[in-house]
Amino acid sequence: MSTSKRATDHPPHRVLLGPGPSDVDPRVLRALAAPTLGHLDPEYLSIMDETRELMRQVFQTRNEMTIAVSGTGSAGMEACICNLVEPGDEVLIGVNGVFGGRMKDVAERYGAVVHTVEAEWGKAIDPQQVADAFAKHPHIRAVGIVHAETSTGEHQPVEEIAHLVRQHDALLIVDAVTSLGGLPVQIDQWGIDACYSGTQKCLSCPPGLAPVTFSSRALERIDARKTKVTSWYLDVTMLRNYWGEQRVYHHTAPINMTYALREALRMVVEEGIEQRIARHRRHHLMLRAGLEALGLEYIPEHPLTTLNAVRVPEGVDDAVVRGRLLNEFGIEIGAGLGPFKGQAWRIGLMGSSSTPRNVLLVLGALEFLLRDIGYTGGSGSAIEAAREVELSAAG
Ligand SMILES: *Cc1c(COP(=O)(O)O)cnc(C)c1O
Repeated sequence: MSTSKRATDHPPHRVLLGPGPSDVDPRVLRALAAPTLGHLDPEYLSIMDETRELMRQVFQTRNEMTIAVSGTGSAGMEACICNLVEPGDEVLIGVNGVFGGRMKDVAERYGAVVHTVEAEWGKAIDPQQVADAFAKHPHIRAVGIVHAETSTGEHQPVEEIAHLVRQHDALLIVDAVTSLGGLPVQIDQWGIDACYSGTQKCLSCPPGLAPVTFSSRALERIDARKTKVTSWYLDVTMLRNYWGEQRVYHHTAPINMTYALREALRMVVEEGIEQRIARHRRHHLMLRAGLEALGLEYIPEHPLTTLNAVRVPEGVDDAVVRGRLLNEFGIEIGAGLGPFKGQAWRIGLMGSSSTPRNVLLVLGALEFLLRDIGYTGGSGSAIEAAREVELSAAG
């Protein structure tokens, strides 16, 4: 550790417009600071129950087995895979970015025989690829797909794939980390068997919990396992007894994070899921018009409304612009990952971060910095383009 500069006792206030975490509302931060209860205190258990009911509403499911896994979104991914996959099971994973790749890695670590359907980064997986994979490998028992691929900004439709998975009597696992609370995620209606998310993206809560839900078909699969779940910590057969009637101690729940998640979920439900989705869409369109006026090209074919991935223009130094956004304007945006390293900016408008104020702030700052370093591309003013979108939306 460097001894020249003491770490701050007062983390600065940033505007979080990266791929997560997103801005956390003061209401949620206040909830986090309430007195810590014991994890078997009846008052805490009732908070757990309320949190669970709110998770069901946001996931749009009646699934009994809906819980907050201790850990970030990746722990949710691991919980879904390790419970549903036994060593030697054939699994199909859609890979078109970092997070599909991570799912594949996790499934392999738990002993699955992994087949993949792949698409170029920035393109969606075609349901026909999934149909072909089933024709070639009729023993596939589970399919994993990323709904919102945060590394490329591509929106993956899941309904048609869900239908195919059902027809082949396999289970569908969906990564909704960058979609839950920002895009439609309809567990029951779409027929998803296991789904995980994270608290710090469109739910706008600090990182630390992973909302997860399992269908009754998924639970039947777990109950029929021949082998114990390989992970002790994430074993749903035991977690179920803590979240269920018996309240059997398994591990100490992250108490204060549950308070924060409950408050964040209340904010989603108070706003209304439909309204919240519409808000994400509206601000995405404003931002998009502004970025395109600056000559910035979107990478994905079907852009997410929660995360905007654009190409860094030729001759512009990615790190310089992001560094100046942070240091001079207090704005965080994300860098490119993998093949997009140094070549992409990822601008998140998730949850509380998706506001007209933030859209104008990041557009104004980007326009200022790009012009300052001599960039001459684009057709006009980002702010003016965003305003035109807002005017036409207002009718
Ligand atoms: C962020 C993210 C994850 C991982 O979540 P962590 O909270 O960083 O562990 C998984 N999948 C997607 C699509 C993500 O955006």
